[in-house]
Amino acid sequence: MKIKYLGTAAYEGVPALYCKCRVCTESFRTGGRALRSRSQALIDESLLIDYNADTVCHSLRYRIDWEKIGDCLITHSHSDHLCPADLEILSDPISHEHRTLHFYSAQDGYEKIAEQIALHKMQNRATVTLVRHGDLFYTSQKKYKILVLRANHALASTPVFYAIECGGKRLLYAHDTGVFPEEDYALLQNFGCFDLISLDCTGCLGIGWDWRDGHMSLKTNLEVMERLRREGIAGDKTIFVANHFSHNGGQTYDEMVPEMAKYGIVVAYDGLEIAF
Ligand SMILES: [Zn+2]
Ligand SMILES: [Zn+2]
Ligand SMILES: [Zn+2]
Repeated sequence: MKIKYLGTAAYEGVPALYCKCRVCTESFRTGGRALRSRSQALIDESLLIDYNADTVCHSLRYRIDWEKIGDCLITHSHSDHLCPADLEILSDPISHEHRTLHFYSAQDGYEKIAEQIALHKMQNRATVTLVRHGDLFYTSQKKYKILVLRANHALASTPVFYAIECGGKRLLYAHDTGVFPEEDYALLQNFGCFDLISLDCTGCLGIGWDWRDGHMSLKTNLEVMERLRREGIAGDKTIFVANHFSHNGGQTYDEMVPEMAKYGIVVAYDGLEIAF
């Protein structure tokens, strides 16, 4: 399995639009890995996670071949993860003939996607399936087994996160969640031990504030990692990645790397690819 991080920021990007705080000014100055677009990921070039307003920009930047992408998992309806208006790009004649893109989303995102599909001339180019936490299902080509978990995040956005299995490898993509709700641990234990776990780290190093509900930081990541290891959900070989950063966490990419390295955590950046 391979994950490619197309975007790694929270809603406002890094540097945040309009902002002149220290993190934004320093990130603007250095460029490179400090610059982050909004969070989106691609698995094996065929399974997309989230569909935000940076999707067109990511498609151009990484030269994404959409003929290979059949499925898209939506984590929740916040605009840095789902831009419903851009569903119209799939319709005729804004785009011409292409394969069907199958979306999966919990209630609020499901309704927003279904509304767009009903509104435009889709000719079966997009479908949407409603998912609920606890659901276990296969994507359209039966390639990926997916487990839906409850996220600790703004309730109105019907937040979930996903465990993904393919060819005996397991990935946990857990963003826009605070420390996991208790019920998730038993579900994760049943699913198996993970090869890569990508954790929300909106609060960066967590200096001055824990970031426990809604989002996490390094401090709360370490708590979750300890619990995952204790329950056998993560093992010695599990790769941990911190992702979905905000300037409000208070550190740039370069400032986070040495601190995260002490705990063996990889700091995500736009374009990062990890095969496992
Ligand atoms: Zn977000
Ligand atoms: Zn800023
Ligand atoms: Zn969110």
